[in-house]
Amino acid sequence: GCPPMHGSSDPPSENALIDTMPDASVPAIRVQSVTKSYGAIRAVTGLSFDLPRGGVCGLVGSDGAGKTTLLRMVATMIPPDSGTIRVNGKDVIGERHLVKEMIGYMPQRFGLYTDLTVSENFDFFMDIYGVSGAERPQRRDRYLGFSNLLPFLDRRAGDLSGGMKQKLGLACVLVHEPKVLILDEPTTGVDPVSRSEFWEILSQMRGMGKTILVSTAYLDEGEKCDRLILLHDGCILADATPREIRGGHTDLEEAIIQRIQSMAHPPEVR
Ligand code: ATP
Repeated sequence: GCPPMHGSSDPPSENALIDTMPDASVPAIRVQSVTKSYGAIRAVTGLSFDLPRGGVCGLVGSDGAGKTTLLRMVATMIPPDSGTIRVNGKDVIGERHLVKEMIGYMPQRFGLYTDLTVSENFDFFMDIYGVSGAERPQRRDRYLGFSNLLPFLDRRAGDLSGGMKQKLGLACVLVHEPKVLILDEPTTGVDPVSRSEFWEILSQMRGMGKTILVSTAYLDEGEKCDRLILLHDGCILADATPREIRGGHTDLEEAIIQRIQSMAHPPEVR
């Protein structure tokens, strides 16, 4: 089982709810009692949380904490063993294709075609999602523009820098204009300036009312989230705002390391 969780159960108030979906009270993502094992390895245990519409929720935790497993389940790629996950009220198993239309999922190793140019990669994703006619140039301008890739349309994806590849990946998962983004460590291995540019784009996406669930290994990025879910050993250790998780500590990193270490060496009960 999991230890008792720290954090408020109320959603953070700064989340903008400017989405135009009919019933704004339905959470963008609802995870209820979700457990998943790979053979004998328990990857996540009894996870439950709701994300309201709009805002950025960061998923943090050490390697093997279960972040990728959780994101893959929300993105309909693998089924939970037990529990339910709903995206805008739709079940990730029973209503898989409805969910797939509503989400943009960027896995850790996102499949760009390295021999194709920036423009050809983007066109390919528009083909897959059936974007046609006058919408095509508009979406190209909007999302490659957003990602500052318009000057590089004819460059082969294989020749882009790490940060530019990730921005192209993000542009490609936006072609069908999903309301919910699920991003698995999109900035890992990317230099600090490019990471900060990437987060600038996420901040604009938030401004458009999108709900973003993003895992990160960088706690300076955690600071930029409206809310943080700290996973450890497949359990939620904390679910609160970065400020709440930081508590009395000088920085988030220190607060999180201490929280994880206190799990490994819990204070003795008297
Ligand atoms: P990382 O950041 O290193 O990817 P993570 O927090 O995303 O870590 P997961 O990849 O979800 O963690 O892994 C959770 C646990 O499940 C780990 O113990 C991992 O070894 C195990 N695991 C993940 N995928 C598989 C798989 N396909 N087969 C067996 N075990 C797996």
